[in-house]
Amino acid sequence: MPNITLLGTGGMLPLKDRFLTSLYVEQNGNAILIDCGEGTQVAFAQHGLKLSKIRAIFITHSHADHVAGLAGLLLSLGNTGRSDALPIFCGDSAVDTIQHLLAVTGGLPFDVHLHRLPENQSTTIKINKIDPLLQIDTLPLKHRVPCLGYRLTFAKKPEFQPQQAKALDIPVQYWKQLHSGETVTLPDGRKIDSVQVTGEPRPPIKITYTTDTLPISEIVDFAKDSDLFICEGMWGTFDKKESMNQKCHMLMQDACTLAKKANVKRLWLTHYSPAEKEPEIYAEELQQIYETVIISKDGQEITLK
Ligand SMILES: [Zn+2]
Ligand SMILES: [Zn+2]
Repeated sequence: MPNITLLGTGGMLPLKDRFLTSLYVEQNGNAILIDCGEGTQVAFAQHGLKLSKIRAIFITHSHADHVAGLAGLLLSLGNTGRSDALPIFCGDSAVDTIQHLLAVTGGLPFDVHLHRLPENQSTTIKINKIDPLLQIDTLPLKHRVPCLGYRLTFAKKPEFQPQQAKALDIPVQYWKQLHSGETVTLPDGRKIDSVQVTGEPRPPIKITYTTDTLPISEIVDFAKDSDLFICEGMWGTFDKKESMNQKCHMLMQDACTLAKKANVKRLWLTHYSPAEKEPEIYAEELQQIYETVIISKDGQEITLK
């Protein structure tokens, strides 16, 4: 059951109650961070989250509102006594920026492994060491600089059927192996396959995160049937549409249209313009386009089941 906390919902500049972009996703004590805007480590403290749970960081693009918090966060991570290497994933064009940020950390007590992701095609990432049930996919977005959307898919194991295991007279010490999908040979020589003692396959949990982009149609397929779709919505008024087209961003209304087309379960808006002080005033209008829209605030949280 992944737990998701939106640490910062601001785009461009922070406000006193709105930090810059960052998303925290944790399952079984292993956390992934997507983007690390200024203030991210302060948001960790505010929401009672532990830096020591971070297993990997993913960066969408090189703009400051998505990366400027990285150096401070890594320094604080060093103070937690971390010695395990930390993987950071980012597009090719963001590597230089990340390396410059690493340079000011002045020797961390752990290694940082920088992984380059292609920016002109989608990629699938699996990190079995972190969570064998998690798959991460990227989507090239359309921004002023190369930018990647991320989709986290958490597979769910089928439920274990103890009645079936008992009926087959399988000793309890083999149940865990069978539940994790293995085939076991019992002391009496019988071979038991996991499907004999588990239920129907269950649909995975999907979380899609796209920010800093035009509302390109590819996002619809990428976010299809997501349990949670987190998408930018810089402004809520149509007089900003032309400027959003020029700056390669989108309106809250665009995000709602994408959410509806993609048939997602819920949409969280994020990455508001600092001049959009009260995005909640658009709630009623946005619900006309897509009913389950949430105009997120910093600290927005959910556990997906
Ligand atoms: Zn941004
Ligand atoms: Zn940007």
